[in-house]
Amino acid sequence: MTPYSYTDFATEMGLLVAAVSFIVGLKWMSGPKTAVRGNKVAAFGMTLGGLITLADPGVTDYAPILGVAVAGGLIGLIMAKRVAMTSMPQMVGLFNGFGGTASVFVAGGEFYKNVWSHSTPDTLAIVTTGASVLIGSVTLTGSLIAVGKLQGTITSAPVLWPGQRFITGLLGIGVIAGVVYLAVQNPADQYAFWGIVAASAVLGVLLTNPIGGGDMPVVISLLNSYSGLAACAAGFVVKSNVLIVSGSLVGAAGIILTVIMCNAMNRSLANVIFGAFGAADGGATAGAADEKPMKEFQPMDAAIHLSNARNVIVVPGYGLAVSQAQQSIRELCEYLGNHGCNVKYAIHPVAGRMPGHMNVLLAEANVPYEELYDLDDINGDFESTDVCIVVGANDVTNPSARDDKASPLYGMPVFNCDKSQTVVVLKRGRGKGFAGVQNPLFVADNTGVVFGDAKKSLVSILNEVKQL
Ligand code: NDP
Repeated sequence: MTPYSYTDFATEMGLLVAAVSFIVGLKWMSGPKTAVRGNKVAAFGMTLGGLITLADPGVTDYAPILGVAVAGGLIGLIMAKRVAMTSMPQMVGLFNGFGGTASVFVAGGEFYKNVWSHSTPDTLAIVTTGASVLIGSVTLTGSLIAVGKLQGTITSAPVLWPGQRFITGLLGIGVIAGVVYLAVQNPADQYAFWGIVAASAVLGVLLTNPIGGGDMPVVISLLNSYSGLAACAAGFVVKSNVLIVSGSLVGAAGIILTVIMCNAMNRSLANVIFGAFGAADGGATAGAADEKPMKEFQPMDAAIHLSNARNVIVVPGYGLAVSQAQQSIRELCEYLGNHGCNVKYAIHPVAGRMPGHMNVLLAEANVPYEELYDLDDINGDFESTDVCIVVGANDVTNPSARDDKASPLYGMPVFNCDKSQTVVVLKRGRGKGFAGVQNPLFVADNTGVVFGDAKKSLVSILNEVKQL
């Protein structure tokens, strides 16, 4: 047994500090006030882990490592600076795919090291190599399909052909059989190794393609979890505790987020993955809402209601992100607040297209955290609200989720906007929300719709309010 040196001790302690930084960082990231600090602490842990790994005596040639680190870092920096807020899910999707690929390379490198040195790894190392390659490849191709669907480069409709599920199942069994074969029969079989890589890559496509584009944020969160599991498996392959810990954290965080998103949509994960949601238009609640015209409000009408209001609730949704209206809504609310109005923002857990979408946008516009309220905390306030402003939100305000058993949204918790005295909706036209169903709120007697891009409408409303 090799003696345990001070250097080994210092290395393990350093990696422990890195792992603890990830955990503390994650904890702080769960609240808006501490999120930035949490991000910095986690980044510190990641840098520390990277530096300690580079200091390993086994690393002899720094030039190629630094070369790819600088190139990758630069590409990441440029992408992060350029990405629009509405394209964030695609960006995260790409990162997941790259994470999965990295795990495939780590496990593949270890596989070939053993093949070339004619050494036989233990069963745990072979099984985790197979798991890392399997999950990593599924994550890569699944993420690319998810990104393509969100970006619109491939059809966002669920793609499902006859017998697809059966073939997917067979392929899944085949890949697992390949891993077992490597473990018990021939750990150096390169055909089996590449067979697992190729079949898993096809599996990623077959698993993601039948899911509609609208569900891709949930899929991306799930793939995020997969990329963590792949990294965790790669950690076992190269016997790196910090990789095992960080991979497990990503795996657990990803699956928790996935479950939160499914719960907030009142859907099971199985329904998201196998339900082909979005394949058919949810016409169930069409009917009355389709036929009744929306009552149009001019910005001046909205301004009159607002200037007479004491209590106002803002419900932001996906349209706020599309029109980048966060600054304009903050300016309007600030003006109302300075003139004696009590303004609150109602934040639905699945408003927008990614978790925390509204929180991030409103934080960017410096909306005070104290003015943001969760669904449960604010839903009782609508009855005593004079004006509810719906800024590009639709599904999260749909009363049929409460009342109409035939609605695809039935059971999803929604804001009780319809209980407000007056509802001012900002939207461009008769466009439906993500679920593709009509919203009776928009044709209700107490609702007026200001048609147009939300940002432009808000600027006009503020100008009118200032004239009154
Ligand atoms: P919706 O997608 O239901 O509705 C968006 C509304 O915004 C539409 O009515 C659209 O109408 C309007 N809109 C679009 N662009 C503009 C613009 N420039 N100016 C003004 N209005 C605009 O959004 P919600 O936020 O209410 O609901 C989110 C939906 O996404 C939920 O069904 C949720 O389950 C789903 N989802 C959310 C995820 C998340 O993580 N947040 C993940 C997966 C799904 P018009 O075209 O007429 O302007």
